[in-house]
Amino acid sequence: MRKKFVAGNWKMHKTTAEALAFAASFKSLYRDAGVEVCVCAPFTQLAALKEAFADSGVKLGAQNVHFEEKGAYTGEISVGMLREIGVDYTIVGHSERREYFAETDETVNKKLHKLYEHGILPILCVGETLAQRDAGEAESVVAAQLTKGLAGLGAVQIGLLVIAYEPIWAIGTGRTAGPAQAQEMCAFIRKAVASLYDADAANKLRVQYGGSVKPDNAAEILGKPDVDGALVGGASLLAEDLLKIIESGGQK
Ligand code: PGA
Repeated sequence: MRKKFVAGNWKMHKTTAEALAFAASFKSLYRDAGVEVCVCAPFTQLAALKEAFADSGVKLGAQNVHFEEKGAYTGEISVGMLREIGVDYTIVGHSERREYFAETDETVNKKLHKLYEHGILPILCVGETLAQRDAGEAESVVAAQLTKGLAGLGAVQIGLLVIAYEPIWAIGTGRTAGPAQAQEMCAFIRKAVASLYDADAANKLRVQYGGSVKPDNAAEILGKPDVDGALVGGASLLAEDLLKIIESGGQK
């Protein structure tokens, strides 16, 4: 049985002092609900958070990485640098990076390969725009992102993968996909991966829903059979809100 996985994506929020204050209040209230938990923080907060979350069971995630080992890539961060800190997961292909920072399915694919080489697990983001959904293209857009993004990976790697289905029109807008829509797309992703690889790998794969997940809608979304967790942006900035979402995942 797949363990539910709730990851917070802080995006470009929180200084180190603010991150440490979050960790202190989170840890004082956190009880293991049988849900895997990860906080994906800005690069400059990762080392401090690694220490702050030590022995808490909370995993640590980065929000991006470069696909080369090292080199003349001003402003970039390598997988080795993340591994040294003890990062567990890294978000790859978030729609904000695809839209503002020229992330493509090809760079996503290179990043996945590099992360696996170093033993860091990817959280691969996929999802359609509103125009694509209205044109009936949601499934074909996501299928193309999966085919290109996952190219060349093996079934074992696929079984360890986390995919976050994040419809772009639901991110930061307060407009969530309904639980039925989230279930439908997460099931579609699992089916698409099964046809690209094998049913066993697709069964192990965890598919999160992301896009305006809040304490008051989390239980219904996380209650769906193919929704294995959530990637949470805005609501992960407050320890109390993130904790409520985690507890919702533990109710099943
Ligand atoms: P949101 O962001 O929860 O603020 O909509 C989700 C995400 O972008 O991962």
